[in-house]
Amino acid sequence: MTLKLLRALIMGPPGSGKGTISSRIIKDFSMKHLSSGDLLRHQILLKTEAGLAAKKYIDQGGLVPDDIMVKLLVDELKQIKTSSWLLDGFPRTVPQAQALYEKEPLDVVLNLNIPDYIIIDRIKGRWTHAPSGRIYHTEFNPPKVPGKDDVTGEPLIQRDDDKEETVRKRLEGYQKMTQPVLQFYREHGILEEFKGKYSNEIWPHVHKYMSTKITPLQYTEYS
Ligand code: AMP
Repeated sequence: MTLKLLRALIMGPPGSGKGTISSRIIKDFSMKHLSSGDLLRHQILLKTEAGLAAKKYIDQGGLVPDDIMVKLLVDELKQIKTSSWLLDGFPRTVPQAQALYEKEPLDVVLNLNIPDYIIIDRIKGRWTHAPSGRIYHTEFNPPKVPGKDDVTGEPLIQRDDDKEETVRKRLEGYQKMTQPVLQFYREHGILEEFKGKYSNEIWPHVHKYMSTKITPLQYTEYS
């Protein structure tokens, strides 16, 4: 008997809870998680040819060229022979999607469709104690004294990355970059959208959908 392995991709804007949902998927469905960002960082650490070539683009805050990405990811995917996989961060462009389609076609694409205002609200509430890296949130994990670190009493700062304007720009950039990729998968009939505000709200739907594609390690009833 040949085992049917599932080839999946998860997409979602930064701050959408993609990390949380991905880790639940790989745990419940025993899939291998393949993040292009992690893979690149690993290649850079190992100083491989692809890693060195990619580093200069990453350092400049740009995208790594499609040919480098496609080769890296396709080579990696070909090595996974006995496990279903969940891609994350790749493809990011239509040429990448097209190349993947020709070499290792996907079965499903999950898109986390979280309203921008929710993501902005969530991130802009984050305050950091810079020396220790301790992170607070005005709503979910407030410091005992507003604006002060619990341990040292020192002032908390808002990282540039967490400022509303920065988050808004990042989300716009993400939408612009990914719309054509989402459209590509929509046209191929494999795009499944998940709308919602919170990971815990979306997760039962993702779990239910994934269970129609691959057997979970254990059945869980979500109401
Ligand atoms: P990430 O951890 O997904 O944010 O990726 C970190 C960096 O790696 C990105 O800012 C890009 O420079 C690069 N990168 C990751 N995935 C891709 C991709 N699919 N295409 C091009 N560049 C990528």
